[in-house]
Amino acid sequence: MQYISTRGKAPVLNFEDAMLTGLARDGGLYVPQTIPQMSAGDIAALAGQPYEEIAFRVMRPFIGGVFTDDEFRAIIERAYAGFGHAARAPLVQLAPGHFLAELFHGPTLAFKDFAMQLIGQMFQTALARRGDRVTIVGATSGDTGSAAIEAFRGLSNVDVFILYPHGRVSEVQRRQMTTPTEGNVHALAMDGDFDDCQARLKDMFNDFAFRDAVRLAGVNSINWGRVLAQVVYYFSSAVALGAPHRKVSFTVPTGNFGDVFAGYIAKRMGLPIDQLVVATNQNDILHRCLSGQGYHKGQVVPSISPSMDIQVSSNFERALFDAYDRDAGAVAQLMQELGKGGFDISQGAMQVLQSHYVSGRASEAQTSAQITQTLAATGELLCPHSAVGVKVAQEQLNPAVPMVTLATAHPAKFPDAVHAATAVRPPLPSRMADLYDRPERVTRVANDLGALTSLIKGQLSK
Ligand SMILES: *Cc1c(COP(=O)(O)O)cnc(C)c1O
Repeated sequence: MQYISTRGKAPVLNFEDAMLTGLARDGGLYVPQTIPQMSAGDIAALAGQPYEEIAFRVMRPFIGGVFTDDEFRAIIERAYAGFGHAARAPLVQLAPGHFLAELFHGPTLAFKDFAMQLIGQMFQTALARRGDRVTIVGATSGDTGSAAIEAFRGLSNVDVFILYPHGRVSEVQRRQMTTPTEGNVHALAMDGDFDDCQARLKDMFNDFAFRDAVRLAGVNSINWGRVLAQVVYYFSSAVALGAPHRKVSFTVPTGNFGDVFAGYIAKRMGLPIDQLVVATNQNDILHRCLSGQGYHKGQVVPSISPSMDIQVSSNFERALFDAYDRDAGAVAQLMQELGKGGFDISQGAMQVLQSHYVSGRASEAQTSAQITQTLAATGELLCPHSAVGVKVAQEQLNPAVPMVTLATAHPAKFPDAVHAATAVRPPLPSRMADLYDRPERVTRVANDLGALTSLIKGQLSK
């Protein structure tokens, strides 16, 4: 299995190198050259299997010869062993035909653990075999960073630096990043918003001297390995609801488009997905775009669902690549226009996008009201991101096709928004009950490439 860049000017890589590299050297994102297919029989055979077995069968064709079957099974076992639920991604029912996939039972209580825990184990296995070490730098709106730190803490061949927007992550998110004591973990609070963090991260990857000197590796949602890990729960959820004999729809609270793009990959592999619904908060560039208004950046307006507060949705480039029939030149051109503020999408590409994705948006008031309503109707406490999903999903329900809304974080990760909506303060699971008492360790840094690169070189483990 080979991986190619969406901008067409980076080397073609195998799975291991695409994963270790993250961002392609031409600024593009790696995608598989072809999408492996699963037949209806293959999908039917997943019914009743443990999550780990489904993960093995769904991801195996994308890995090529990089890991042996035994190695890959062991990686998957270790990745999900720390989850607080035996089903890993359990479904609960909200209403007739509407289900919630609880993706928040991992160590940092957000769905990003599904991908990050797997990536941590894959990096460890690959680097140990090569006798190599890397510096992981990630930008986070909150959940990626804590998930990355949790996945890489204490690994001897990795330093992990996480950039988050100072003052713009929740206290639980911040403490999950600043309280690990391992020397290879470095939390950096940067002046600016999440898009600034993401832009400086891209700058670091485009500074080839720095990139090579510290052996930079990325685990942001652009990393193909993360998208791949997220494909699995689309299969496990759909099969539990009757696929391949019955179609299933999904609603995905969306920021960087990684999670919903994984759903698109599942569909391309053969999973009978009826609708993929992109749910945004008031930062609705994706909803505007999918409604035919072009892709034009605005200002990020902080919301109660901060992990979706973005204006530049990095994985959307992968969707564009396919919508433009894999024309890397066209994608490179669009991305250049994006640097100047935005771009319009050709009619043909728009038709392709609208054949795969529908979209909706939830305002702050609607999000909060949804948390209140869902608690009253079902007893389920939603985090604000999941509430955006449930609200938008309700507009798309079809009695003939079950809908699965992805619950992306545990309510205790966003206790203020949940408390404001319900007067209930959701408790942290007992395994992290002392989080508020642990000492914090963080470095404040300016929104400046030079300041960042010298700080990182200075803090590297020797
Ligand atoms: C990251 C995140 C999202 C958005 O996921 P993308 O893959 O960036 O679209 C939604 N909800 C929560 C809780 C998240 O952490």
